[in-house]
Amino acid sequence: MKRREFIINSALAIGGTALLTNYRKKEIKKSENQVVRRKFDNTDMPLIALGCMRLPMRDGKIDMVELDKMVEYAMAHGANYFDTAYMYVDGKSENAIGEILKKYPRESFILTDKCPAYLVNSPADVRKLCEEQLKKCQVKYFDNYMVHNINKNTLSNYRDNDMYGELVKLKKEGIIKHLGFSFHGDPQMLREVINEHKWDFCQLQLNYLDWEVVNADELYQIADEAGVPVIVMEPLRGGVLCNLPEKAVQKLKQECPNDTPASFGLRWVANKPRVFTILSGMSNLQQLKENVDTFVNYRKFTEHEEEVARDIVRLMQVKGAISCTACKYCLEVCPRGINIPAIFGLYNMFKGSVAPNAAFMFVYNYNALDAATRADKCIKCGLCNKNCPQGLDIPKLLADVHSEVQKVEQGMK
Ligand code: SF4
Ligand code: SF4
Repeated sequence: MKRREFIINSALAIGGTALLTNYRKKEIKKSENQVVRRKFDNTDMPLIALGCMRLPMRDGKIDMVELDKMVEYAMAHGANYFDTAYMYVDGKSENAIGEILKKYPRESFILTDKCPAYLVNSPADVRKLCEEQLKKCQVKYFDNYMVHNINKNTLSNYRDNDMYGELVKLKKEGIIKHLGFSFHGDPQMLREVINEHKWDFCQLQLNYLDWEVVNADELYQIADEAGVPVIVMEPLRGGVLCNLPEKAVQKLKQECPNDTPASFGLRWVANKPRVFTILSGMSNLQQLKENVDTFVNYRKFTEHEEEVARDIVRLMQVKGAISCTACKYCLEVCPRGINIPAIFGLYNMFKGSVAPNAAFMFVYNYNALDAATRADKCIKCGLCNKNCPQGLDIPKLLADVHSEVQKVEQGMK
């Protein structure tokens, strides 16, 4: 009997299907250049992770050859964290990443998946969905698993069906190692969700644009105060921070010549100490290589660079935009708690964006604001105008933004 046959037969003879499986696993050729890692629970995680929402495509299908190369490169450089979800790539992301990862020993990679709250209509749905996802990913457990996308529309699915309680059962069974949630609501909702249970982590949208013009600073602060570790999604604002306007690109080149817009944005996020990994949706090997390089040669953000980030946000404000600097002085006097800087920030982002989904994102983010704090709830008392260092006619501008939202919504129907 040849040596290979002998080994396989011996494995089967001792009932060792697991041994046989391991025997077939792909060897990871470790590079000398490893990405930096951060402590999380009793382990450590790569600071950059491969988000599987925007996988490489060819002829309308996931390009498995390119994905295979990307995973191999990521694994070789220690970027062994992969994040997928039920609905990513029209429901095909889980199968694709599972098919590639099955070649590697299970303990060599970190796999995160998410329970789609909007599909949960009974507590039993949680286990059913999770079991389906385990099959699609060809694994027996998820390292991190979360309630996906808690927002004002899915909050009742999450609460009324006791998703947390069901997920805790799965955690006790070892099917989930760490339990968290991803979030797209306002600060008040985050405070409630984060404090009502014990979470291992939360996943927030964090980048220097949302920090300055929306409410990412408040969301991060809430997680930080609660001591809940943070995974970051949309660190580059869906590509907006990679496609900066010319003036902003010039500023970056002049002040931070060693950075690309992408590395600058990723380093900004990494500077937040509560963050333990950053998801970046990568669509080809080149993007992955650039992102890995940022975290192999990781440099901490400086005070000066923080200032540059704020300048870039200002330069992103384009013609037709509102010259709000997000100082928040108006918030101190508004009797209705209208979220003025957030509303103006969203509008400015929409006006300055070249992203194809800019209109959708504008309406989506506007509607994600607490309904009581949106522009149409302004009573035109004018108190805010007195506090605005930019001399803006705030109630008028709020009315303009609200009618723009309605126009865009009409156009999308
Ligand atoms: S005018 Fe509107 S936004 Fe300004 S303080 Fe009054 S209610 Fe608030
Ligand atoms: S006071 Fe003026 S500049 Fe400051 S956040 Fe309010 S609207 Fe913007």
